[in-house]
Amino acid sequence: MLKIAALLLFINSCTDCSCNTFTERQFQQLAPIINSLDPDSLVDHLLKLTGERKVYYLGDSVVIKSRHAERKGNEIAEHYLTRQLKSYGYKVEKRNPFWDCVNIIAEKKGEKYPDEYILIGAHYDSVPDYGRAPGADDNASGTVCVLEAARLFADLQTDYSILFAFWDEEEAPSPMGSEYFVDYALDNDLFLNEVINVDMIAYDSNDDGDVIVNRTNHDSDFDISELLTSINHEFDLKLDIHYRKTYTRSDDRSFAKACYNTTGFIEKYYNSSRHPDNDFNPDWHTSFDTIENFNWDYYLSNCKLIIGLLYLLTNE
Ligand SMILES: [Zn+2]
Repeated sequence: MLKIAALLLFINSCTDCSCNTFTERQFQQLAPIINSLDPDSLVDHLLKLTGERKVYYLGDSVVIKSRHAERKGNEIAEHYLTRQLKSYGYKVEKRNPFWDCVNIIAEKKGEKYPDEYILIGAHYDSVPDYGRAPGADDNASGTVCVLEAARLFADLQTDYSILFAFWDEEEAPSPMGSEYFVDYALDNDLFLNEVINVDMIAYDSNDDGDVIVNRTNHDSDFDISELLTSINHEFDLKLDIHYRKTYTRSDDRSFAKACYNTTGFIEKYYNSSRHPDNDFNPDWHTSFDTIENFNWDYYLSNCKLIIGLLYLLTNE
């Protein structure tokens, strides 16, 4: 929390709202990380997780037709994500609330505050529960963003510890995978400073850059919008960030209900005709939720915004 207080002091001392709210040192450290984000690597992961490119699985090359909890592809995706994380050097833990619900957790220890964590997570399961379920926007987009964050942070020193989490069974009636982890966190007094959730960050058909940040803030008045505004500005991401004091109907809900601080990123998903700028992904939860619908500039900008935030929250 010291880090946050120091950042706020800096922000509050800034009278020109167009000025840089980073310290020069933070910016110098963050720039090469943001610039190392590898679009080709993102595309490769996305194609594999959505069944458009084969993946290696138990000595065979196979296609993930669906990541639904009850489909074989769910297990293949779990193997794929685990293998990637191990290739980056992480020790990977599987936390299984039930035999077919597998959360994948990779931990990075902080140098100064090893017992305080920032958690960044996304659910990797998909719907519908029949036929093809590529779940590109919902939620290969978030899964691959978190996977890329894990790659970029693998060799970095951070002050705070990080948990990279990949949740199963978010698409169940309640987000079962993350609910199970919250019980574990409470039982083990896990100190989570912040929980970042990434779910559906690739659809923007009208190119307005709208992204919604749902935030619940239980133990401080720290305003995360200052950090996001700075990243958006400094890296010319062209996002229009909208803040709401609530949680997403996603895995951040599990943590918010247990009074953790949560920040949930999601595209503008309102599908009400009463909403003037309705830009809802029409292929959501169907067999047509493929990467063809991605707005790539928008997706990359969201990844950079989220990875930038992770850096600022984990380093003084
Ligand atoms: Zn989702």
